[in-house]
Amino acid sequence: MTNILIVEDNISTADLLKSSIKDEIQNVNVMIAGTYKEALKFILDTEVKIDFAILDLGLPDTQACEIVKLFVSKKIRSIIYSAILDNNMAFDMIDDNIVAYIEKGGIVSISNVIRILKTSILAIDKNILLVDDSKIQLKIIQSIVEDLGFNTKIAHNGKEALEIMKEIGHTISLVITDYNMPIMNGVSLTLELRKKYPHDTLGIIVLSSNEEEDTSAKFIKIGASDFINKPYHPIEIKTKITSNLINLELFREMKELANKDFLTNCYNRRFFYDSGEAIFQKAKREEKNLVIATIDIDNFKAINDTYGHDVGDVAIKNAAKILQENLRSSDMVARFGGEEFCIILEKISLEDTKLLFEKIRDIFEKNTIEKNGLEIRFTTSIGICYGIYNSLDEMIKISDNNLYYCKKNGRNQIAINK
Ligand code: GH3
Ligand code: MG
Ligand code: MG
Repeated sequence: MTNILIVEDNISTADLLKSSIKDEIQNVNVMIAGTYKEALKFILDTEVKIDFAILDLGLPDTQACEIVKLFVSKKIRSIIYSAILDNNMAFDMIDDNIVAYIEKGGIVSISNVIRILKTSILAIDKNILLVDDSKIQLKIIQSIVEDLGFNTKIAHNGKEALEIMKEIGHTISLVITDYNMPIMNGVSLTLELRKKYPHDTLGIIVLSSNEEEDTSAKFIKIGASDFINKPYHPIEIKTKITSNLINLELFREMKELANKDFLTNCYNRRFFYDSGEAIFQKAKREEKNLVIATIDIDNFKAINDTYGHDVGDVAIKNAAKILQENLRSSDMVARFGGEEFCIILEKISLEDTKLLFEKIRDIFEKNTIEKNGLEIRFTTSIGICYGIYNSLDEMIKISDNNLYYCKKNGRNQIAINK
């Protein structure tokens, strides 16, 4: 659980921030202080350790810089979010514990706060890989990076770095590497890394004291995300780490928007076919069975016609939620359109497949949705294809035929390999 304190005297702004944070970020505890005095109380409370703060500068009981001084002195990482922030003031307030300065106003500024908060919270369980042959340089940069709250991994040359990536690459979000190193230098390392990790999944920052003025351009061209000249100021590294991680987060959000269905947050049909194909090919190679299940709400048109489209939407969302809650996180649930969902499951026996979908069908049958004082109920039909066939398409078609069988046979049932 991450504890976030909002210091803000305007109640509606504070509430809006709080609800946006809770909507967008998981496992957070958000507190609000309306004055300097209240903020102090939260800081002095030894029960709850504040991890991040969002600071308004225009508080009724103090001058602008006092609140910043207070949080900086307690080493609490803070975002300044204020309308009275002029550019010079922002420049003067630069401190390691001030993560960002965001001028208040509109939706964009709140989403900026959320993005930076997300990145900072993400930092807690992300690793940064530091690559340098000099032990002294490693120590210096390690202390800077750890100051920001990241865990670090260490390699002394490119080859060691690649070995670490092979083991735990999925936990590394950023590589910070030196240029000149024995065994494998920064150029080879950057080139090798980019073969496997595109720009949207891994940041690479190169540090170099190389005198040639086109070194940075060359590094960017071969795939580095950023370049820092030695000697550097710690703030330069910190800022570049943050901005690179924000970029990665933006990429992640964009991909999510492109791959997911807006209403239900399930994957969309296109993503299902793309990802499903890879899952299918792997299963085929390894001669493993797969499950493709197509689920459709029965007589859904009647829900729309009786209660209206809005209530229909609520039912679709509810159906998605039930599916997600009753499947493993590794099972891919996609909304195929309307009130129809398609699911891929791996590593499950035929017997367990029957039990699982019979259970899900039963949950739907017993489920009621309450909306506008009404109690809405619906059932589902589930067509399943179990095994491994010639193509993903063929398996989807079989599950669809089985769904059609359920519909003809009276609905509210499952059909498997009929
Ligand atoms: P069956 O039991 O045979 O599946 O009958 P059904 O009424 O569920 O199926 P049918 O395909 O005839 O109707 C599906 C309806 O779903 C028609 C369409 O207007 C509605 N629909 C499609 N997309 C949405 C949506 O996003 N929201 C809502 N509320 N309705 C949708
Ligand atoms: Mg239907
Ligand atoms: Mg339908």
